[in-house]
Amino acid sequence: EERESLNFLEHIIENDLKTGYEKNQLRFRFPPEPNGYLHIGHASSICLNFGLGLKYNAPVNLRFDDTNPIKEEQEYVDAIKRDVQWLGFEWDTERYASDYFQQLYDWAVVLIKNGKAYVDSQTSEEMADQKGTPTEPGTESPYRSRSVEENLELFEGMKEGKFAEGTHVLRAKIDMAAQNMLMRDPLMYRILHRTHHRTDTDWCIYPMYDWAHGQSDYVEQVTHSLCTLEFLPHRELYDWFLDQIYDPGKIRPKQREFARRNLSHTVVSKRKLLQLVESGVVKGWDDPRMPTISGLRRRGYTPESIRNFADTIGIAKRENLIDVSLLEFHVRDHLNKIAPRVMGVLNPLKLVITNYPKGSEEWLDAENNPEDPSAGFRKVPFSGELYIEQDDFREEANRKFFRLKLGGEVRLKNGYIIKAESCTKDTEGNIIEVQCTYDPKSKSGSGTEESLRKVKGTLHWVSMKHAIEAEIRLYDRLFTDESPDTHKDKDFMDFINPESLKTITGYLEPSLKDAKVGDRVQFQRLGYFCVDPDSNSEKLVFNRTVGLRDTWAK
Ligand code: ATP
Ligand code: MG
Ligand code: MG
Repeated sequence: EERESLNFLEHIIENDLKTGYEKNQLRFRFPPEPNGYLHIGHASSICLNFGLGLKYNAPVNLRFDDTNPIKEEQEYVDAIKRDVQWLGFEWDTERYASDYFQQLYDWAVVLIKNGKAYVDSQTSEEMADQKGTPTEPGTESPYRSRSVEENLELFEGMKEGKFAEGTHVLRAKIDMAAQNMLMRDPLMYRILHRTHHRTDTDWCIYPMYDWAHGQSDYVEQVTHSLCTLEFLPHRELYDWFLDQIYDPGKIRPKQREFARRNLSHTVVSKRKLLQLVESGVVKGWDDPRMPTISGLRRRGYTPESIRNFADTIGIAKRENLIDVSLLEFHVRDHLNKIAPRVMGVLNPLKLVITNYPKGSEEWLDAENNPEDPSAGFRKVPFSGELYIEQDDFREEANRKFFRLKLGGEVRLKNGYIIKAESCTKDTEGNIIEVQCTYDPKSKSGSGTEESLRKVKGTLHWVSMKHAIEAEIRLYDRLFTDESPDTHKDKDFMDFINPESLKTITGYLEPSLKDAKVGDRVQFQRLGYFCVDPDSNSEKLVFNRTVGLRDTWAK
């Protein structure tokens, strides 16, 4: 990756500012097709385009590329707007390619009149057969020499709904021997008798991507139309279409390309994500295992963490696979700064303090966030019967085990130093209870000599009688393979991780009973968790956002 201050797209823009445009003419757009929810790959494109807008103080349009009524829906438009806003960006104007259907039609008529477009009445198979190969020229359609009058009449008939789907198309008349296969008389329009989410049944011919995209950029006077690398071969056609309608007094948009971003252990393609939703592998587009913006939000990701991730990976000229652990690093980094610390036990083991006054309790002071002193303190109840994690106790262990073992001492976070004296097992030999004694003078923060005494381990805990139960959803990678959709002989669906979701019951300190949907906390020593919208007044549901690298525990 380049380590200079400007990326290659910024170099192009800077150069254009020297030779062509004025700074106040710069304009960008983010152009999603509303055929699914935005994913982490789109976040890169959003951060790029809106980032350039901020850097150059230039407007950025949100343009829906809604030219295919078969796959597009209002639900997706709404979700896309919500996600762009949640990421923290503001668009200048909200536009739709469908706003330009009439203009595109009028321009198509101009092309026909100039002998640059014709109606082809062959089947799609016939046209495909005539395409030729990269080394052999294609064959011209028998309809290529239709008169302008006939073309105008047929094209109007197409628009008026006189023909069935598949009977006619409008094609640009370019060159059936062109090196670039996309220049071999590409389709401009097809007939689709479908209802469109915005234009309803006004239109029954729909423009193809190549015809709609550049012209939409031109209407909006976008200076730099940034897209992913698969469109590189389309650039010649983008320019050819602009040539046909371009007015020299106006901004002429430029298409420039950058590499698509792929994330390990997942798929970033709306089509494949839709397959996960429709097959029931996940519960919806916003399932916390999905790499969608809405899935990441529900999982507990912050907008900052996603933006920082996108900025760190930057843009590139070549595709590569970004490890999902980098995304996790960024959310951990941000949540470390902002998430309140709380205690919760996920695999409970009963611990009884035999010398603690029977039936009594006390409320201890607990710091909310050592990274943020302004976050203050809260009270946590303590009693003679607690839960600790099963993993935190062993009958015997070597000297590297800094948790609790028989005869050993640990500090209970925010509380006292305890010593394990004995334990009880069930008939199968599982440890079901630990008995210990505590040092009443060792209370954290009390200032006594005993309170300052260092012991190796500190454990989190909850008081049994005060604990609240919650459903805890633990997530793992959705796919077992690093790159599930790149195998020749296998489908990405073959790599689904059957254990991507594990649901358990956790026991949490009572301060969490008022937690609201979307609240993010750190369960100390366990990781970051977030309140899921499935929560209700009876039961809290938490998602594990990401695990924690253990710092003060071992
Ligand atoms: P998908 O295959 O998921 O549908 P797409 O490119 O067809 O992706 P669009 O809605 O057309 O989806 O994308 C809007 C913008 O986001 C485009 O400019 C596109 O190039 C960009 N984009 C999409 N996926 C990625 C990605 N993985 N990395 C970077 N940019 C992306
Ligand atoms: Mg697209
Ligand atoms: Mg697509």
